[in-house]
Amino acid sequence: MSTGLTLFDIETDLLNLMLCREAVLDDEQYHGDEASRTEALEMIDCSIKERVSAEIAKVDGIAFYLREFAARATTAKVEAKRLKDRQDMWERREERLKEIVTQVMSMTGKMRLEGNSNTLKLVKNPPSVEIAQPELVPDQYRLVSATMNLEDWKKVKDLIYDHHVDVAVDVKLKEPMKMPIAEALKQQIPCGRCDGTSIESVPMELRGPNDSGMKKCTQCNGTGKVNQGVPGCSLVRDKMRLEVE
Ligand SMILES: [Zn+2]
Repeated sequence: MSTGLTLFDIETDLLNLMLCREAVLDDEQYHGDEASRTEALEMIDCSIKERVSAEIAKVDGIAFYLREFAARATTAKVEAKRLKDRQDMWERREERLKEIVTQVMSMTGKMRLEGNSNTLKLVKNPPSVEIAQPELVPDQYRLVSATMNLEDWKKVKDLIYDHHVDVAVDVKLKEPMKMPIAEALKQQIPCGRCDGTSIESVPMELRGPNDSGMKKCTQCNGTGKVNQGVPGCSLVRDKMRLEVE
């Protein structure tokens, strides 16, 4: 099956043989000696047949491998999808069962359940940011990605110095950045009600007979500090997860 020739070699040979055959047909040298011409043509035809057989063997071999590889890739792709679906299914089942056990344990106030060789326990999750209204999140906590061609990008850089330039920009607003939001939500800032003094004055009409007129600030509960808020976001501190030991 293998001739040791590349597809290019075979095709070049074949083309040369075809040209050679045409030359013999037109050759004045064989005029009156048709037997020699026929002999020459038969030799060439024989070579052409050899080359064609070699080419067919090569092309079919190559085509076979190409089809075979494509088919195997398709099979693997289908199998990969099937396995991914199975992974997703088992993960969903695990999550669902964990949710139910967590709910039941929380409702009955049990943080640990001991089995013969396993323990189910509820563990408090670290504080996490929950973004209920992304549209309210301030710009400082949002990222954009802008895609444009390099020529336009250079113009944008020049915009700093020069104002009227047309650029086509594809700007994408990304998800709010949870890390800095979490940091901001954990930050304490001076209480606005008592200005950080921890005490507020009671209005005249509400004061008792021996009232000093000052009381613990109700906003910050006398700490002088409040948590900094981020619009649209909150810090969830009491989420529980189930662990198996
Ligand atoms: Zn206060």
